[in-house]
Amino acid sequence: MIALVPLIGLILFLILLLVAIRVGVDKDKPGSELHAPTIHKSGIYSIVRKSPRENIADHKPSTEALRKYLNAQNEDIEGRKLSAADKQRLLREWEEKIEASIAEIERGDQEGAEFYYYSYAGDDPVCAPSISKGQFVTREQIFQYPNIIPPFHPGCRCELKQYRGDENLRETTVIGMRSLFEHDRLPSLPDWMNIIKSV
Ligand SMILES: [Zn+2]
Repeated sequence: MIALVPLIGLILFLILLLVAIRVGVDKDKPGSELHAPTIHKSGIYSIVRKSPRENIADHKPSTEALRKYLNAQNEDIEGRKLSAADKQRLLREWEEKIEASIAEIERGDQEGAEFYYYSYAGDDPVCAPSISKGQFVTREQIFQYPNIIPPFHPGCRCELKQYRGDENLRETTVIGMRSLFEHDRLPSLPDWMNIIKSV
């Protein structure tokens, strides 16, 4: 009877080995692609948390492009004259606002935020027609479309805020909380070649 114990152990080991081989084979089978979306999805979930800093530059005009454009303009969209100091300030604010957006998303990632909403620090006639205050985007949409991260143009007052769940967005907007993406399609975003001089 005692001699059987190692034998049972060996049999169990062989069974486990067979199961392990089977699992390995199943993984390599083309049919296992059926499970691919789940794996892909969980993969997205983890890379979703990568800092937007890594790819935001591909979706925004460079500081150099912005400087060139500003230097060629004499007035903002409302016909207000732009001085050299105004242009310098607009450029500095642009960089500060990009940093503020990245910081907000990174903070949200640390706190596990899934939703972000748009808010305005002041009048913004360029963004307001296409982005309403309180409209929200998911963290995954931010990952997939870094161009939805404000600022959108020099002098932009649109901001992205982490949704904590206790904001009373209904009081700040007529429409309440609504997704920026209708039918999962990227909406048309404001053109960056629109200057609003800060007042
Ligand atoms: Zn704007």
